[in-house]
Amino acid sequence: MYKPVAVVTGGAGFLGSHLCDRLLDEGFRVHCIDNLVTGNLDNIEHLFGNENFNFIKHDVTNYVHVPGDVDYILHFASPASPIDYLKLPIQTLKVGSLGTHKALGLAKEKKARFLLASTSEVYGDPTEHPQREDYWGNVNPIGPRGVYDEAKRFAEAMTMAYHRYHGVQTRIARIFNTYGPRMRLDDGRALPAFVDQALKGKDLTVFGDGCQTRSFCFVSDLVEGIFRLLMSNESEPVNIGNPSEITIKEFAGEVLRLTGNTKSKIVYKELPIDDPRVRQPDISKAKAVLGWEPRVDREEGLKITIDYFKKKVKYSLS
Ligand code: UDP
Repeated sequence: MYKPVAVVTGGAGFLGSHLCDRLLDEGFRVHCIDNLVTGNLDNIEHLFGNENFNFIKHDVTNYVHVPGDVDYILHFASPASPIDYLKLPIQTLKVGSLGTHKALGLAKEKKARFLLASTSEVYGDPTEHPQREDYWGNVNPIGPRGVYDEAKRFAEAMTMAYHRYHGVQTRIARIFNTYGPRMRLDDGRALPAFVDQALKGKDLTVFGDGCQTRSFCFVSDLVEGIFRLLMSNESEPVNIGNPSEITIKEFAGEVLRLTGNTKSKIVYKELPIDDPRVRQPDISKAKAVLGWEPRVDREEGLKITIDYFKKKVKYSLS
């Protein structure tokens, strides 16, 4: 029986590796491409014995060659945490722009369907709340986050151009904050930072006054949304995220409670430049078009994630 073939760029990353797992479970053959700058082979080591899985170490900002048929391309390669793209500003711009161009070129060549991992960062520091797909955003192009936000906005524009001009079948997922096993402990994001600090008995570093909000989606829900979008006919952007919104200060408190840490305090640090004050997806479109909504609530998802971090690092709470 014919097995559909998928290429996942950034396939050794947090989301990419979960997508490789899902596609293999669905009976696909998977080419995973990653240059391992922020991705990690640990995330895919369980797949190396699988005859349907092929790893290609490659930087997708350069010409991408994949032998044979390709039916689907999921473009997930990019540094994706504020700390990472501040450390890797040029690579972030290049993978969002040149990398998207190369991945789209491959889709055109192979007559494959293309899915872009876009982001809620295209909405910047939003002046509309919650964010709907028809909101154009409020992004500072020259601030430190601009390298990510503008690269992803360019990537969306390039994706729509390949769709309109070359007739490539394209999908655009606007991914909101997502968490779960295989997140890097040192990527500087709020969730791994708080869990790491809580498990080590250190104080939790909340940036600014902690009143800024985020809405966290568990990775299994995200993967389901992405897979449904890939299989749908929707070529305009779709928000994929969990609308359950929380302030960062409250979130730090939740992490303390769920790690059983009664000693650590919350300490306040300077707010990074252009840190969005609010963020919450309006998922009416995903519900209507994909029949999708998240199922895992934050407490359940956080428990799974905390267990993962506990196994990954040996902690001793003093
Ligand atoms: N944040 C924080 N302490 C940390 C790391 C992040 O208070 O140690 C804040 C950050 O300023 C932001 C929110 O938590 O307001 C979510 O940050 P994250 O890095 O997870 O991603 P973002 O949603 O900003 O892309």
